[in-house]
Amino acid sequence: MEGKALAERIRAEVAAEVAQLGNLGLATLLVGDDLASAIYIRLKHAAADEVGIASTDLRLPVETSEQELLDHVAELNADEAVDGILVQLPLPAHIDEARVVRAIDPIKDVDGSHPLNAGQLYLGRPTLVPATPIGILTLLDEYEIPLEGAKAVVVGRSNIVGKPVAQLLLQRNATVTVCHSRTADLARETSSADVLVVAAGRTALVTAGMVKAGAAVIDVGINRTDAGLVGDVDPGAMEIAAFMTPVPGGVGPMTIACLLQNAVRAARFRRGALAFPAA
Ligand code: NAD
Repeated sequence: MEGKALAERIRAEVAAEVAQLGNLGLATLLVGDDLASAIYIRLKHAAADEVGIASTDLRLPVETSEQELLDHVAELNADEAVDGILVQLPLPAHIDEARVVRAIDPIKDVDGSHPLNAGQLYLGRPTLVPATPIGILTLLDEYEIPLEGAKAVVVGRSNIVGKPVAQLLLQRNATVTVCHSRTADLARETSSADVLVVAAGRTALVTAGMVKAGAAVIDVGINRTDAGLVGDVDPGAMEIAAFMTPVPGGVGPMTIACLLQNAVRAARFRRGALAFPAA
């Protein structure tokens, strides 16, 4: 499943929408000097520039206090030129991540992390949904993978990938099982999955023998190894699965493209073209 090509198409669509909407602003906040976070931020800004979204890249030193960060968020909330705000996670340990996420105006929350947006998703009335799960569903739809009545297994239960993708699959009438680090028999669960989404961040957690023949496998994992970037699923599983995403070039580019889509969606909410539920 080629995420890269599909992501390119989505970015072209976003560029056309941005041109129609006029000025659109995305602001990111990065605290500290985590290398992986800096790479993600760079990719997000390059993609935003390419589609004509004005992006502001705020970098704060690792010793930034929680209050200083909250002040920056408040400023961006009040800034009329900013449609979307993204606080790159993880934050340094001395900052309460949940508090910062709560401080973002939910209508500008392009990461879909604010409790209002997370709650809307849980209630089956999605507003702004995290980009990676949207990217995964978009890929499954592109390849016409049947979801209704399918057995879907999600490995990982983070707030940014595992839980929201499980909710989206449930809304599409899949029968969803969520596995995690304390699941008793992971292989038993994965080997019965028609649709398998793996987001654990563990190299080769899912081997070929743990995949059902003919399944659709979405490998979300990004692991840095001496051999380069690898996913969570042994590439040998491609021989067993009917569909599988590569790493890199699968979910990663979809995440960036869907983040841009979220920025457009946030702009539509703010401009009243879409109704946003009152907080
Ligand atoms: P996380 O660390 O927050 O969560 C990992 C989850 O995996 C946890 O819920 C944990 O219970 C589960 N897990 C860990 N070990 C396990 C095991 N042995 N068996 C079963 N479950 C296990 O991670 P995250 O933010 O959800 O990210 C997961 C992976 O996806 C990471 O590699 C991350 O880099 C990658 N990621 C990729 C993209 C992308 O765009 N491709 C986006 C987000 C995250």
